[in-house]
Amino acid sequence: MTFVHLRRLNKSFRDQTVLDDLDLMVESGSYLVLLGPSGCGKTTTLRMIAGLETPDSGQVVMNEADVTKLPPRKRDVSMVFQNDGLYPHLNIGQTIRLALRGRCRSSEIETRCSHAVSMTGIGELLDKLPAQMSGGELRRAAIAVAVAKRTAVRLLDEPMSALDVAVREQLQRDVLQWHHEVPGTTIHVTHDGLEAMRVADQIAVMHAGRIIQIGDPATVFDRPQAIAVAKALGTPTMNWLAGELVDGCIRMECPEVELSGSLRSDTRSGSVMVGVRPNAFLLGDARKQRLGRPGIDLSSKVQACRVVQETVEVSVWVGSTALTIVLDRGVSCHIPRVGEILPLLIPADQIHVFSCLTQQRLNVGDVA
Ligand code: ATP
Repeated sequence: MTFVHLRRLNKSFRDQTVLDDLDLMVESGSYLVLLGPSGCGKTTTLRMIAGLETPDSGQVVMNEADVTKLPPRKRDVSMVFQNDGLYPHLNIGQTIRLALRGRCRSSEIETRCSHAVSMTGIGELLDKLPAQMSGGELRRAAIAVAVAKRTAVRLLDEPMSALDVAVREQLQRDVLQWHHEVPGTTIHVTHDGLEAMRVADQIAVMHAGRIIQIGDPATVFDRPQAIAVAKALGTPTMNWLAGELVDGCIRMECPEVELSGSLRSDTRSGSVMVGVRPNAFLLGDARKQRLGRPGIDLSSKVQACRVVQETVEVSVWVGSTALTIVLDRGVSCHIPRVGEILPLLIPADQIHVFSCLTQQRLNVGDVA
């Protein structure tokens, strides 16, 4: 199998810096998701691995070989594009066979074709032109072409965007089956944090042309190292409260928010953002049992309350700050009412603190 190493890639279009000394190591055989907001350079990065774009400086290395100057055909790479990339005048069967021409012996073409067709379940689509297929069928067909190529490296550019939930879930299962059954290294681009967590072994979070954190999904979700990482993962998104460091201790800006114990940081002063995941709030008996232990205590007013599947999503105001709380319907016996004053507690180990200046995580210890 093949590892992919991107070394200090730089790319500008006119005066816009798109990749800024980007470094990334993708282990051989892993399923890595490049996650980041629109315009941060994800597609440009994939195109460089595929050989469709040339860096201004830096190297694309595969298994110790520098392939930066190799044309796409000479790289052992396939790419599934955001816009399927199929030929409008060829049916899917013809497209798969054309893609295999020159890649394998002609006696092998039919075997590879039928394996890809059965893995992606596109048997009934083989005679259809792209214009005769739905969005989901087009993606499956594009994936089938890539499966048939059996390249060592597979690049997927937003392969599931703008599809309904059932089709997305089916495609997620299909690409994972492909990754596990046909040995190779997969790099998948998305701005959807949930999709990233569902498929990735490793998530590389990208921001403004750089990789700002890489790790397994649980670590990146549980210990985001920068504000942009915290914002990239989690539905609903992380809540934010403003604070200030005074002699290394956090003071909360909002009078309705009170700290029990003191949260200390190595950094002595400066503005901070305190991040809290929506399911980290305790109320009722769970709150009472933790009172007095290090954490944040706050008084909120319920603005709206919605049942969302197994959870209740509660929008509250804390002073002028809006927060979203997610309660498990199976655990919480209390469904808040609009207008109710709701005391909440956030345990210290559920608090993420970031410097407003550097945007980076601060190590904060709780001192009772
Ligand atoms: P999205 O999620 O919206 O697809 P992305 O993270 O994949 O975004 P890229 O497509 O890599 O972002 O584009 C990054 C930036 O580079 C964008 O501002 C885009 O307009 C610009 N860009 C990309 N390709 C070119 C090009 N060929 N010429 C000029 N600008 C370009």
